[in-house]
Amino acid sequence: MKPQLPWGRLYITKLIPNNYLQGSEVPFYVGNLDSVFEKHQKWQTLLPRVTPFYAVKCNNNLAVLRTLSALGTGFDCASKREIEMVMSIGVTPDKIIYAHTTKPQSHIRYACTQGVDMMTFDNEEELLKITRGHPNAKLLLRIAVDDSKSQVKLSTKFGATLGTVGSLLKRAHELDLDVKGVSFHVGSLCTDGVAYRWAIEEAHHVFEQARLIGFHLDLLDIGGGFSGHGLEMMSKAINEALDEFFPADSGVRVIAEPGRYFVDSAFTLALNVFARKKVWNMLMSADGNGLDTMIMYYVTSGIYSAFIEVKIYPDTLFSLRPHRVIKPRYQSVIWGPTCDSADRIMDVWMPELNIGDWILVDNVGAYTIPMSTDFNGFEKPTIYLVVTPQIWKMLNLKVSNLRFG
Ligand code: PLP
Repeated sequence: MKPQLPWGRLYITKLIPNNYLQGSEVPFYVGNLDSVFEKHQKWQTLLPRVTPFYAVKCNNNLAVLRTLSALGTGFDCASKREIEMVMSIGVTPDKIIYAHTTKPQSHIRYACTQGVDMMTFDNEEELLKITRGHPNAKLLLRIAVDDSKSQVKLSTKFGATLGTVGSLLKRAHELDLDVKGVSFHVGSLCTDGVAYRWAIEEAHHVFEQARLIGFHLDLLDIGGGFSGHGLEMMSKAINEALDEFFPADSGVRVIAEPGRYFVDSAFTLALNVFARKKVWNMLMSADGNGLDTMIMYYVTSGIYSAFIEVKIYPDTLFSLRPHRVIKPRYQSVIWGPTCDSADRIMDVWMPELNIGDWILVDNVGAYTIPMSTDFNGFEKPTIYLVVTPQIWKMLNLKVSNLRFG
């Protein structure tokens, strides 16, 4: 029997000929909500003690937010606008953590008026702002932890160093603020569970310090950093560290702020090849000598849109493939659509494509959609969402524009 393509992929193979007939060149995502559901099931199995608060910044598509809300996750918001967004779909304030250590004063006040109490801090000035804007907030002290095992480092910009933790806690105590817990983020795309273990151990020290100052902490936030794959390995290290430093009978509630984990593999992007140019490549011929053909393709979304991460984090890898199987392969450059020569997505070996062909890119659900611009007037990709009727009914999803598998 022929293996069944995932529903999202099947939908793309239907859309492409349709777009071709209509002459559409607009790039599009297909987001598979079943995949978000499956990720949630897996999380519950592998990390049963850890409640996820999905990081909205990663992909703020409303259908994704509604799916996760129906599954009962909380939400990590980084700004007033993100808080507004999740509350607009009925999320209650107790399910929101305002997880940004440096917040505009007006955003702190807004959180207060909405009853969003949980928020993070890592410096004294922030404590003073919170005293003015939300004196009853439930605070988490974010600590800077070792981020050497992660592709995207966060600890230079965020987190109190261990040397400053004591004085910050004392200052919070003087200001009569309610510190409830500790948070950290090991950095995005973490590759080694030991980073979580080290960070959980450090958080445990901070709990002890806080106890001596007069606080009773009962909330641990282990942040994000989980890639779309490999939760098995990470969860083993996390569960072991939790059992050792925060056992189930310690009364400490554990939450996390995963972003990429939930959405990365749920989205595939289709890019239209709207122009191409053959050039002679002097440097890279097949036999290392002489001239070889290099083909430059111009596609409908580039680094100012879905591929901005390529420029911010040069180690980011996307895997591009033609939507139909063709051979042989040529050295190729894939350019974004804008007039900027920095808009170079990737150099790859690709079969020869024609104008009107499509290139597919899997695993693009994280940090692409909210970061896209329409620089030079090029349209942002359209988003199509697919879901099977079982999941749709189970979650009672109130999302329009769904395609059913
Ligand atoms: N929490 C905070 C405070 C973050 O800054 C980020 C990402 O930058 C996340 C959570 C989500 O991280 P990830 O997508 O790596 O899980």
